[in-house]
Amino acid sequence: MITVQELTPIPNIPKSNYRRIVIVGAGFAGLKLAQKLAKTDYQVVLLDKNNYHQFQPLLYQVATAALSPSAVSFPLRRLFHKTENIIFRMAVVRKIDKEKKLLETNLGQLNYDMLVLSQGANTNFFGNKNIQTHAAPMKSTSEALYIRNKIISNYERAVNLPTVEERRPIMNVVIVGGGATGVELAGAIAELRNHVFPKDYPQLSFENMRVILIEAGGSLLAGLSESSRGKAKSYLEKLGVEVMLNTMVEDYDGFSVQLKDKEPIQTITLLWAAGIKANSLLGISPEQISKNGRLIVDENNRLINEDAIFVLGDQCVQKDEKYPEGHPQVAQVAIQQASNLANNLKLDLKGKPWKPFKYRDLGSMATVGKKMAVVDLPFISFQGIFAWLVWLFVHLMAILGVKNKLIIFINWAWKYLAFDPSLRLLIRPKYIKRHKREWLLDQDEPEEGS
Ligand SMILES: Cc1cc2nc3c(=O)[nH]c(=O)nc-3n(C[C@H](O)[C@H](O)[C@H](O)COP(=O)(O)OP(=O)(O)OC[C@H]3O[C@@H](n4cnc5c(N)ncnc54)[C@H](O)[C@@H]3O)c2cc1C
Repeated sequence: MITVQELTPIPNIPKSNYRRIVIVGAGFAGLKLAQKLAKTDYQVVLLDKNNYHQFQPLLYQVATAALSPSAVSFPLRRLFHKTENIIFRMAVVRKIDKEKKLLETNLGQLNYDMLVLSQGANTNFFGNKNIQTHAAPMKSTSEALYIRNKIISNYERAVNLPTVEERRPIMNVVIVGGGATGVELAGAIAELRNHVFPKDYPQLSFENMRVILIEAGGSLLAGLSESSRGKAKSYLEKLGVEVMLNTMVEDYDGFSVQLKDKEPIQTITLLWAAGIKANSLLGISPEQISKNGRLIVDENNRLINEDAIFVLGDQCVQKDEKYPEGHPQVAQVAIQQASNLANNLKLDLKGKPWKPFKYRDLGSMATVGKKMAVVDLPFISFQGIFAWLVWLFVHLMAILGVKNKLIIFINWAWKYLAFDPSLRLLIRPKYIKRHKREWLLDQDEPEEGS
């Protein structure tokens, strides 16, 4: 059994007569739950390692200079100005002591009456340390910004190299993973190559720049309809993306991508969108963790063998007749589970019975480029310009905050009318060594450009 070290309590968390619910993670699930519990008879303490919420579906647009990081990140404190029962702290949660109902964080310890884990997932490198060291993942705003800086600095570098042979590995971009993230990144990078970079770097020949999308399986966008999968591939090929299906990446040394039974590819830019693994924390019992790392919950999202711990979204696996392997790790599942738990916690206040979670699949979509998207609704699939307009509308509506919606709308209008995304800036954080420790606050190290 893991016990939490004697730490001082997190300061300035007020005492309350209400039961305290601690939520770890302010992503789609944690944030929705906190919002729905505003102004109820619970004290809610929301913890996240960042002080902003990240809208992951549009990260690829940050990585490809179409949107600024602030357009897809929303300051959490601003959401809770008028809700006294919600307290936010920027904190990294490390351990849990289930017996004592205590959490250990980098700020100190915190006790709870009920705990909700919604820590999401992180990139899965499937144990390959070389790939982890040299490839660029895209799970957070800072990682997307790193990719933007890397791609732009590559061309600033390539333009000074005398020979095509030297320039080629600097200019090529290889993306691994044929899910929505890989498809969207590949399409957006190909559009930059086709329309933007030749104007910025007239001395470079972009025929020498390959954009390659590698997928281990037999098709892109597994889980979507056959027509959408086929159309996404043909859209990418129209943009000049080389799609390599049934191809396994075996290793990467930062310069050469080794493929199983195929010729290696020279690139210094390998973008890794090939898989995710659920986040966790110390103190969870092994029998509560499934083989793929997701925490096992019942139909009310309660962690198995626990009374007071719940898990939501990407971090949990909840099996039912329709989803014997668990739900897909997508935003709608996280949001709907959070809503259901909030409703149940409100029923609890009235002493009424809880209602089990039932997932309502609203459909899936992915965009490849201008006027090229695929949409699968439960009753119909369609592709092309109408699908693209639907994709734009749905994502604009889903983003938090009127200001962000407006900024994104203007950015998109400018980008699609002028084909000239205006954010091709190389801005790299410069931090002084002696301040580094303070600045990091035990978080993941922020990346400097490249
Ligand atoms: C690039 C990309 C594109 C995507 N596109 C789509 C899409 O188009 N449609 C779709 O439905 N889904 C998409 N997804 C998946 C979707 O974003 C996730 O399913 C969803 O975010 C899951 O919500 P969550 O609340 O479980 O986790 P998250 O939204 O990931 O939130 C987890 C939160 O926990 C915090 N956290 C983690 N560990 C700790 C800790 N120890 N202490 C404190 N805080 C912690 C994190 O900072 C984060 O804020 C995409 C994902 C990615 C990465």
